[in-house]
Amino acid sequence: MDNPYGGNKKWMDWERHPSPQSKQFDAPLRDWRTAVLKRDNHTCQSCGSTVFEKLEAHHIYPVATHPQHKMKVRNGITLCHECHVASHAFHNVMNKLKAV
Ligand SMILES: [Zn+2]
Ligand SMILES: [Zn+2]
Repeated sequence: MDNPYGGNKKWMDWERHPSPQSKQFDAPLRDWRTAVLKRDNHTCQSCGSTVFEKLEAHHIYPVATHPQHKMKVRNGITLCHECHVASHAFHNVMNKLKAV
């Protein structure tokens, strides 16, 4: 596992809005995403954006390395698309969370 956060497009797609008929997106994960967004009041936890269409649920511990935390709401954080991309690219959010 060289870089579990950066450039892992597969997991990012997984955390995003599913299209209504998406077969790749299983129902339990959709519930997880909904629960994470609800807990965070549908607000990006990085920049404060509340544009619903842009909000995505990000796994704090990546599923790739921590599959056991996949469905835990506590392992989720609401990010808008821009912050989500940034978090995967630069680990910004990860580092911020670790510092708290
Ligand atoms: Zn944001
Ligand atoms: Zn993510």
